[in-house]
Order: sequence, then C-alpha cells, then structure tokens
Amino acid sequence: MSTPAPHVLIIGAGTGGLCLAHGLRRAGISVAVYERHRHRAEGLLGYRVGIGPTGSRALRECLPPELFATFLATCARPPRYFNVVTQGLRQTASFELRPDADPVHTEHSVARMVLRQVLLTGVDDVVHFDRTFVRYEQRDDGTVTAYFADGTSATGDLLVAADGTHSAVRRQYLPHAVTRDAGTINVATRIPLTARTRDLVPERVRQGISLIFGTGGTMGVLHMMEFKWDAERAIKPGVGDADAALLRQWPGLTHDTTTDNINLIIWSAARRFPADVMQRRGEDLVRVALDLTPNWHPHLRELLTRGEPDSALPIKVTTSEPVPPWKSSTVTLLGDAIHTMTPGRGVGANTALRDARLLCQQLARAVAGDKTLLQAVADYEAAMVPYGFARVIESLNRSGTSGDDRMYRPVVGRLALLGARGYFGVTSRVPRLRRRFVDDFHTYEGDQD
Ligand SMILES: Cc1cc2nc3c(=O)[nH]c(=O)nc-3n(C[C@H](O)[C@H](O)[C@H](O)COP(=O)(O)OP(=O)(O)OC[C@H]3O[C@@H](n4cnc5c(N)ncnc54)[C@H](O)[C@@H]3O)c2cc1C
Repeated sequence: MSTPAPHVLIIGAGTGGLCLAHGLRRAGISVAVYERHRHRAEGLLGYRVGIGPTGSRALRECLPPELFATFLATCARPPRYFNVVTQGLRQTASFELRPDADPVHTEHSVARMVLRQVLLTGVDDVVHFDRTFVRYEQRDDGTVTAYFADGTSATGDLLVAADGTHSAVRRQYLPHAVTRDAGTINVATRIPLTARTRDLVPERVRQGISLIFGTGGTMGVLHMMEFKWDAERAIKPGVGDADAALLRQWPGLTHDTTTDNINLIIWSAARRFPADVMQRRGEDLVRVALDLTPNWHPHLRELLTRGEPDSALPIKVTTSEPVPPWKSSTVTLLGDAIHTMTPGRGVGANTALRDARLLCQQLARAVAGDKTLLQAVADYEAAMVPYGFARVIESLNRSGTSGDDRMYRPVVGRLALLGARGYFGVTSRVPRLRRRFVDDFHTYEGDQD
C-alpha cells in the first residue's frame, strides 16, 4: 500500500510551490519545479505580503531550521502601529501593535521578491526556469507527463498545480473551476525610502501599516518596508549578531535588489480606471493613480511621483467561484491555482503555504505506508477545499474589495465611508474594543488547522 519514492512535479515557483518543494525534500521525496519566468529575479514586481501564523507555521515545518531563521531575518521591520487615515493624512485611528517576540504568532512584513529568494535557497538545483507548462497527460501506469512550451516534457507520479490565478493546469484538469473579476483594480507602487520620502508622512504612519480611507471611493494602504541591509547589501549597524551572520552567508542577498521602501497601493472600483489600465506601466500608470487621487494630501501625491516607475503595477482583483468536488487523481492543485482570493484579508499567500504544508504531510504519510498516493491526495483535497473557499468568501466580503461594494456608490458611498471611519475611530478610543481589535490583528486564526 505504500508509495515507494514517488517523483512530484510542481508547476510554478511561487510561494506555495517553493514551500512544497522544501517540505518534500525534507521528507525525502523527489521533486522538480517548473517555472515560466526566465530567471530567479524576473516577475513579482515588488509588493508586500503579510505572513501570519498560518504561513509561518508552514514555513517552519517545511523549511530547514536555518532557512526559517533566514526567512525571519529577511522580514521588514515589524509595524508598531496600525493606522487609519483620511486622504488628507488626518488620523482617524491608530492602534499600537505588540512587539513581535514570537517567530510564528505574529504578522511578518515580507517583500515578495525577497521571499522568493529565501524559498529558492537550497532547492535551486530542482527549480527549472524558463519552462512554461502547456498541458499534461495522465497514463494508465499511474504516471503523469507535463509538456512545456519549449518542446520538453517531464514525467512523475504526481503533478501539482502551483501556477497561480490563471493556472493552465486547472484549465485542463477542472475546466469548470473558474475565477471572476471582483470589480476592483489596485495600483501598487514602490517608493525608495529616503530622507525626503520619510519626511512626507506623519510619525505613526512612518512606523506602521496605514489604511487610507479616501472620499470618492478611492482607498489606499501604505507599508513602510525597512530591511536589515542597506542599498550596498551591507548589514546595517545594530542588527543582532545572529541575524547578521545568517544574512552574510545567505546567497539570496546577491540575487535581489530590494532595499528600504514605502509600499503604497491604491485601489477603487474598476469602472473608475481608464479602460486600458492593465496595459499601462511606469509613469503612465502613476498618472492614472494621480488622476484618481486629486484631493489626496500633496505629500501622498508626491510619494506617488517619487516611486520607482518600473515598480508600478496594475492588479485586477479576481476571485474564484466555488467548485463542486471532483474525483482525486495524479493531478492536484494548491494556492491561487485553486482558490484565488481578493487581497481583502491578506491571506492568499498564507493559505497557499498552508496547502503546501498539508499536502506535504499527506504525501509523507503515503511514503510511510499509511495510505496510497491517491488517498493522500484525496485527504489533502477534502481538507483544503473547505478552508480554501471559506477564505475566498471572507476575503470577498471585506469592505472595498468588490466593485459592487456600497463604498463605491455615489451617495451611499459617502455614508459607508463615514461609517467605516466612525467604526475605527470609536474602536480605537474605547479600551475594551481597542484591545479586542489588536488581539484580532495578531491572532486572526480563521485560517488555522
Ligand atoms: C496586492 C496584493 C496584496 C496581497 N497581499 C497579501 C498578504 O498580505 N498576505 C497574503 O497571504 N497574501 C496576499 N496576497 C495574495 C498572494 O500574493 C497570493 O495568494 C499568493 O502569491 C499565491 O501563491 P501561489 O504560490 O498560489 O501563486 P503565485 O505566488 O502567484 O505563484 C505562481 C507561479 O506560477 C508561475 N506560473 C504561472 N503559469 C505558469 C506556467 N504555465 N508554467 C510555469 N509556471 C507558471 C508564475 O510565474 C508564478 O511564479 C496579495 C495579493 C495581491 C494581489
């Protein structure tokens, strides 16, 4: 009944795929990853992801201990405050967050490209870049073959779709599993942190995460991303000896150019953007963001103009439709490939990591002889689908992520905005409510096992 030495093919070297590759390697299971990007620094133009307890637990379990320590050392400085501000940078609410003493039970601010470099460490020998998956074939002998755009192929015992929202594997395997436009668009920008840009924002914003509730249905979020290295990749003074030693010997630092920055994302209903916004880039896209924010504080608008033009990225927010159960086989899926969610709750990457951990545990049990490979896949899917789609729904219901949200309606929108500001204002002033809000921020565990 055991599955001796299966070989696992993973399509996509994103957050979930690379975490799974580590976990399988640790479990002694042979793995190969195929990624369409041509090299390890392509794509993933920088925006921040928050990795909470669910993601950290998965990383701690799947990564070798020293690499998990490196992951922690590469996170940006933890936010001290969660702020809510108006478009005029007036503070509506500010919550003091707890210092992050625990490596897992906290929210880590991570730059996506840095996370990719961490996750490539120690598995780069099994990651094949410039291999765009096109289709697969399942054979009667139980093997599955993946075919790539360059004419090559690879055969294994299990094919894992970790190829994100527009998954080509899903299109073939579950053609009825579709995503839909949530009706909002984000424009993400990355602004170098300099003496000038630092001075453009109030002290609490400088030290935290800040939600911008703007009038006229335009919202924003601002993250300060400060790392333990400077622009020359030298470790900054004051970094503890252990972290400094880890970072000095970490090869990932030479592959990535991320330095201290302000991550400013603005979003609104898609209908407020020009029809060709998804094709716009650079200064042209920054102009779109400026046109949407005419009444924003001049400092916020100056930040937009000081962004690295190449980092400006339009993101059409999509969400998965529920999928009826399917019969498990030698193809399975994880992360955005099966349950794309809006950024509303900030748990898409965490859920992809949770999937990776769970699938890895199941495959390890198959190898140990507890169940067949197919049963392991079925057990993984039976758990993953309910929690994955629960996160999809919660994320969509978060205020402002759907284009149908009343926030974006002409008159009602104004009331919705006042209601949201009022909620945060009262919550931050009443000690009991404030404590509960901070507890929730730190311990949102709806995404736990
Ligand atoms: C603005 C924004 C903010 C977000 N913030 C957060 C947050 O704070 N916390 C959080 O948990 N989540 C967040 N998310 C969600 C998170 O980014 C995703 O859920 C997460 O990256 C999904 O991981 P994944 O491994 O499934 O897919 P991805 O990380 O998207 O990886 C998919 C990989 O597959 C590759 N690929 C695609 N097609 C092919 C092919 N045909 N052949 C080969 N390779 C292919 C891609 O190049 C990519 O490398 C945010 C998302 C957005 C848009």
